[in-house]
Amino acid sequence: MATKAKKKQAAKGGPTPMMAQYLALKESVPDCLLFYRMGDFFELFFDDAKAAAATLDIALTSRGEHDGQPIPMCGVPAHSHEAYLARLIKAGHRVAIAEQTESPEEAKKRAKEEGRASKALVGRAIVRVVTAGTLTEETLLDARAENWLVAATETGEKIGIAAADISTGRFILSAAAPDMLDAELARLSAAELIVPENFANAPAHAQLCPKSDFSSIAAEKRLKKLFGVATLDGFGDFDRAELAAAGGLLAYLETAGQGDLPFLQPPQRHRTGDHMLIDSATRESLELTQAVGGGRAGSLLGCIDRTVSGAGARLLAADIAAPLTAREAITARLDLVTLFERDAGLRDTLRAALKALPDIGRGLGRLVAGRGTPRDLGLLRDGLGAARDLHMRLSRIETPPALLVELLPPLTGHGRLTDHLSRALVPEPPIDAAKGGYIAEGYDAALDDLRETAGAGRKAIAALEARYREATGIQSLKIKHNNVLGYHIEVPSKHADPLMNADSGFTHRQTLAGVVRFNAPDLHDEAQRVIQAGAHALAAEAAHLEDLIATVLADKERIAATADALSRLDVASALAEQAAICNWTRPKLAAHACFQVEGGRHPVVEQAVEQQGERFVANDCRLAPEERLWLVTGPNMGGKSTFLRQNALIAVLAQAGSYVPAASAELGIVDKLFSRVGASDNLARGRSTFMVEMVETAAILAQATENSLVILDEVGRGTSTYDGLAIAWAVVETVHDANRCRCLFATHYHELTRLAERLDALSLHHVRAREWKGDLVLLHELADGPADRSYGLAVAKLAGLPKDTVARAKSVLAKLEAGRASTGGLAAGLDDLPLFTAEIAQEEEQTDPLREALDAIHADDLSPREALDLVYRLKRLADEAGDA
Ligand code: ATP
Repeated sequence: MATKAKKKQAAKGGPTPMMAQYLALKESVPDCLLFYRMGDFFELFFDDAKAAAATLDIALTSRGEHDGQPIPMCGVPAHSHEAYLARLIKAGHRVAIAEQTESPEEAKKRAKEEGRASKALVGRAIVRVVTAGTLTEETLLDARAENWLVAATETGEKIGIAAADISTGRFILSAAAPDMLDAELARLSAAELIVPENFANAPAHAQLCPKSDFSSIAAEKRLKKLFGVATLDGFGDFDRAELAAAGGLLAYLETAGQGDLPFLQPPQRHRTGDHMLIDSATRESLELTQAVGGGRAGSLLGCIDRTVSGAGARLLAADIAAPLTAREAITARLDLVTLFERDAGLRDTLRAALKALPDIGRGLGRLVAGRGTPRDLGLLRDGLGAARDLHMRLSRIETPPALLVELLPPLTGHGRLTDHLSRALVPEPPIDAAKGGYIAEGYDAALDDLRETAGAGRKAIAALEARYREATGIQSLKIKHNNVLGYHIEVPSKHADPLMNADSGFTHRQTLAGVVRFNAPDLHDEAQRVIQAGAHALAAEAAHLEDLIATVLADKERIAATADALSRLDVASALAEQAAICNWTRPKLAAHACFQVEGGRHPVVEQAVEQQGERFVANDCRLAPEERLWLVTGPNMGGKSTFLRQNALIAVLAQAGSYVPAASAELGIVDKLFSRVGASDNLARGRSTFMVEMVETAAILAQATENSLVILDEVGRGTSTYDGLAIAWAVVETVHDANRCRCLFATHYHELTRLAERLDALSLHHVRAREWKGDLVLLHELADGPADRSYGLAVAKLAGLPKDTVARAKSVLAKLEAGRASTGGLAAGLDDLPLFTAEIAQEEEQTDPLREALDAIHADDLSPREALDLVYRLKRLADEAGDA
């Protein structure tokens, strides 16, 4: 419906006043979708509307005109806007929220005061900018994942990184060499990354911010003020790069909160040397916290995570993402795991208690962010109380390990706060404070009085109904309440006439079809009493809420410490549970660069293999300075990659402070871990796969030290045979002589096995397989020495390549092998290869696999393992035959 004013505006071609207000707000947040509050809805206009409608799959409509064109519009209900917000943020959008800052009545009053007669426009302002890195809402966050906002900058020779998870207040600063940026960002797996606009090589998804925000001098001042200290020395000795990054982070957070800073704990220093360096390619290839297809399922973390709280899950993810390098720190974590591993009763009690515990850290985060609710206070009361109970249980442990001694004090000491909250709050406080009812009876006598008055008023009103019925003789008379009339008397129309009379004592309010409504002086007085007392009670509750939140916030650092201690207990007991259930062992930490694993397993593959009713074959790995490079050969699908990766995972788990999937393990600390798979598809990064392979290999050769662990899986595969072999050969030599790191190198280039004669610390190993006339049995068992051959054609046949094609490949192979021996060159013989015909294909004799397997079992050259595998294989063949 177009008002006169709007029509006039449209005729002039200018925007309506409301559109002008919208455009002004939008101008201040050009890179955000603007949620513009209109009554019960948030509306979006123009391109914002188009983008949101497409992402949310909601209707795109239009409203009025702008520059002669209809304005595209869509909207979401305010009461359920969080769900829509979540989807937009997930899709990579940023959203600014403009709320109404006054009611229509207030706007009217203001317009009158300002002498404007026309209809007043409600004031609006942007109250918040929501981005992936600045979320605190429970509904928008993954309870089991940290949510990092990361700022990175370059100062002098260093990269400074500041990271904050404002849902819990964790705040971390670190500095690193420029070539470590990628590894650091990969460790944090940032929800959102910001960099100064002049940042060289900014990652594509980074948000560019004003350069002036990243000033180390200004940042130092702000941090001191924020934490009320004269010097930052107490938190750590931060360098300029770290402070500059912190400056950028704080400025960004302040803009997002429209001037208010969220919860930040004092900054902690993450020293890169304290953690195993794992670059992003290695993380991806090992699937540490995310599987290749994205998501936790199928990753190491997804496989071993038995934590029972969101906070514990977040800490375990952080531990796996950043294994330690200091022996004492690792031992301290392991000692705690051992305590819980040995005492199943203690472990069960602890885990049951932790499971029932609310997420204190995030509840506190919401309170500090000003979005806390009465329920969050209840959550802290319950959580801190449960922590105290745990303290009692755990302090009874005789000779507690050092880490437990450290964790005990933060579990307690909140007695005054929890007592206060217990007295103040009802047992189950609501999320919505607006309706009151969260402050307990007996906490405030005045509040109790107000509630009693309101209650008495309501009783009196009920009594009035009976009195009015008697007085009027209308039995169907009722006293009702609605938002427009408040309390009123309602009678059916047929009885209304006598009450219309002025001396009936009733005043007419409303006539509807079937009923007529009245007021009366007594009712009016009682209703006033109820309303006033109710409003006062609500105000009193709101004041208490504010006080209680202030009391909690005064203690926020200590509460955060309690949350941290609880999450460490969850992680340790979860790892103990995993160790007990899956039969893991405590790794020994050696002082020299060895890697001795007996009966090692790959936890994720083991789980998958067992789900299919098969067994996982455990394998040993023995690396030491004098035998530090293992060259592993064997057929495709033989288990080479699995073997390589399981050892890398064992190193990660051990240094994260976990037991490991092995019969025994003795490991020298790994400073850097590298894992590369030849020619992995990485078109997403816009480079050819072989180029990626070489860039990544170059990074390893440049960075690996004597203390590093490197796994190289078929490096050189992505190019022509000779080029690839030459590169692989040279890489092995470099790793052996220059890097001198521990290394597992899997390859299909049999020629490389000749290196064993030339390189002292290189030894040969292979995954075993047996073949009967082209049929292949993979044993997944590692043995010393090189593989006898590559079994490529046998695997191709196993995979179901057409028989004709396999037969043809055999002929080609025979010619190639002959060519290699001749002087004419590898492919020389191919010219004489007869044309491919059906007859040639038929030469491949028809074999009966069942018959052959039986023959093999009867032959006496089988080890017990091989015989067992054949039995499995026979069973499968028999099943297949049965199906046919
Ligand atoms: P390719 O050379 O083709 O890359 P590969 O030798 O690296 O093959 P893997 O990918 O490690 O082989 O293993 C192939 C499959 O074999 C695995 O997916 C798993 O199902 C099974 N497997 C591997 N190792 C074992 C093991 N130790 N015990 C049981 N099954 C295994």
